[in-house]
Amino acid sequence: MPLVTTKEMFEKAYKGGYAIGAFNVDNIDLMKAVLRAAEAKKSPVIIAISSGALQFMGGEIIRKTLDVMLKTEITVPVALHLDHGKSVELCKQCVDFGFTSVMIDASAYDFEKNIEMTKEVVEYAHAHGVVVESELGAIAGVEEDVNVDDKYANYTHPADVFEFVKRTNIDSLAIAIGTLHGAFKFKPGQKPQLRFDILEEIEKELPGFPLVLHGASSVPRKYLDILNQYGGAMEEAIGIPEPMLRDAARHAVCKINVGTDIRVAYVGGVRKALVEKPETFDARYVIVGGLNQVQELVEDKLENVFASAGHAND
Ligand SMILES: [Zn+2]
Repeated sequence: MPLVTTKEMFEKAYKGGYAIGAFNVDNIDLMKAVLRAAEAKKSPVIIAISSGALQFMGGEIIRKTLDVMLKTEITVPVALHLDHGKSVELCKQCVDFGFTSVMIDASAYDFEKNIEMTKEVVEYAHAHGVVVESELGAIAGVEEDVNVDDKYANYTHPADVFEFVKRTNIDSLAIAIGTLHGAFKFKPGQKPQLRFDILEEIEKELPGFPLVLHGASSVPRKYLDILNQYGGAMEEAIGIPEPMLRDAARHAVCKINVGTDIRVAYVGGVRKALVEKPETFDARYVIVGGLNQVQELVEDKLENVFASAGHAND
């Protein structure tokens, strides 16, 4: 099957009460490990490429490797997605590379400018059969105008979402309801919280419309411990508890992003291989040590957190 957009994936996930995992990969090997995990679990999957990863890997190489994988061993639906495109030009470039989904992240700008940039990407992408995700968060600008009485101060305001979606004609919307990027989302002692009340208000404004959660790594204890047990010195990190993500997937959240967890699993696996076999200079042995952990992590998320396993042929 050739690459697909996320349109059908999201429709099915919305109805089925599960979510599609969007996994950020930093190199071709990691991309292959994610695809193999999705194939093993018969799950649709999104390969997410950040602008940094795009530079590191090369758009043409990503696209061509995927084409080969999809011809030879991967049968599940796969979408190729640009994560956090900060400029209209970058989004257009990825459409030209053959990505099937792009995210324009103009959330740092004001509402009108965000709409203007998003619209420009939507017009170009839709003309090429590519879908668009955009972000509407209230994080930008809160510093200047903090209103502590406003329960929406750090979150996406439900009153804005309908107008934003209608005027931009986007295909999915990334919302801020308490997730944060990176490994260190919360301080020890702080309780991670997702604002399901705000999520429900947003859903009421946009019935049937797919929502996206960014910054949704959980930093599973097991992988953090392996990384540190084999010589790492990663600080204590608290992510979003997996049961909360499972709940979000039962709501209108159709795409959940994972970046940090892949890195922690990979580096931990590499460290373990190096420590367990200090005499080795077999690069493949070391790399595979990392990749095996990534595949295990992704399979676990698809099955137990996003619940998309087995939905490849819905
Ligand atoms: Zn993100």
